[in-house]
Amino acid sequence: MPEQDFAYIIVGGGLAGASAVEGIREMDGSGSVLLIGNENHLPYHRPPLSKQLWLGKKKVEEIFIHDRQFYEKSNVTLSLGTEVAGIEPGKKTVRSAAGKTYHFGKLLLATGGTPRRLSVPGGDLEGICYYRFLDDYLRMRKDTGEAKSAVVVGGGFIGSEIAAALVANKITVTMIFPEPYLCNRVFPGSLGMAIQNSYIGRGVTVFARDRPQSFEKKGDVFVTATEKGRCIESDLLIVGIGIVPSDALAKEAELRTDNGIVVDEYLRSSHQDVYAAGDNAVFPYQALGRQMRIEHWDNALNQGKQAGRNMAGAGEAFTYMPYFFSDLFEFGYEAVGEVSAELETFADWQRENDTGVIYYLKDGKVRGVMMCNVWEKVEAARALIRKGEKVKPEELRGLIR
Ligand SMILES: Cc1cc2nc3c(=O)[nH]c(=O)nc-3n(C[C@H](O)[C@H](O)[C@H](O)COP(=O)(O)OP(=O)(O)OC[C@H]3O[C@@H](n4cnc5c(N)ncnc54)[C@H](O)[C@@H]3O)c2cc1C
Repeated sequence: MPEQDFAYIIVGGGLAGASAVEGIREMDGSGSVLLIGNENHLPYHRPPLSKQLWLGKKKVEEIFIHDRQFYEKSNVTLSLGTEVAGIEPGKKTVRSAAGKTYHFGKLLLATGGTPRRLSVPGGDLEGICYYRFLDDYLRMRKDTGEAKSAVVVGGGFIGSEIAAALVANKITVTMIFPEPYLCNRVFPGSLGMAIQNSYIGRGVTVFARDRPQSFEKKGDVFVTATEKGRCIESDLLIVGIGIVPSDALAKEAELRTDNGIVVDEYLRSSHQDVYAAGDNAVFPYQALGRQMRIEHWDNALNQGKQAGRNMAGAGEAFTYMPYFFSDLFEFGYEAVGEVSAELETFADWQRENDTGVIYYLKDGKVRGVMMCNVWEKVEAARALIRKGEKVKPEELRGLIR
């Protein structure tokens, strides 16, 4: 017998989970809500973990999405530090690792993703930080007090942002990644190289086109051996090589998964009472006409909210076009749509590789737009993508400034 019955259960205390509470309460002021999360913190925003917290622009107490009173006022039962071990959609139950069972009316899986790990010798050594959680920040922050050097594995956004954050804290940083330049999945070559050179100019040692072969620990010092025969000693070792969507609960319950939990336009999984949102959800991105999974803040915020509304009966299709952002030293940007360096790109620079707009095109149509140090133009970019008309790249010059 389930120990407790809730109209809504949310598994995952991240941004999508917290936003779902808002969505539910917009539609249903009184239905009982249980939010279960395995971290010991109230839901918080992750972007500051690699940016403002390191630069003294935010304090830890400022990154929480809502304070405890919000959940009390919203009549939400919080079960933090609680791992969910299984779900049974047929019986409409959720089981915690501690053996408690809860019954739900509607369930949201907002379980996000876990950091991908390196399967090289020493990849599981104690002290290596696979960076994602507030506890990782708190540990690294403490360790940087004593540290002078760090190896950062991974040249995507997490690796690049963490490297910049450590440099700002006077740590000597070596970056290692297999790609030819930083953030090569989204940046065209000349921009990627320019950003990389700005890192080198600030004293970061960049070993592109290389990867770790093994890790060892000599006393407190990490020793990273690379495929190209390099051997680097460091006080800290941080890895940011992407995430794996946390879809195991759905998979074990035989819901449809495909590198994430597959949902329809209402964010409903293959079971009608189970929804998914955020980093773990593969959803139909209407404006692009394809299935996608998006690992970004604005997506988790809006998808979580929409899932909550739909769980409470709104029946609204998710048609929102999420944007994303990053800051790499002084280079900041906002982007929307399919921002993939594999597409044809057209860059309309006002200042080369610094200020301007990059258009990503497929079959002559704009699929994505990245606005580099150009702000508050996301809506114009969305409209351009939605239009879906064929354009000649030159016609895009000056369109968004
Ligand atoms: C360091 C960092 C910086 C970032 N910076 C940016 C940025 O600049 N711009 C941007 O657009 N995006 C950024 N992101 C990405 C953005 O933060 C994520 O897309 C967003 O947090 C996803 O939210 P989510 O709720 O889907 O998942 P998560 O935030 O991963 O939350 C899921 C929660 O569910 C918990 N959970 C998982 N399984 C279980 C279980 N079985 N039982 C109980 N709880 C469970 C997890 O522990 C976690 O607390 C950044 C991410 C990180 C890590």
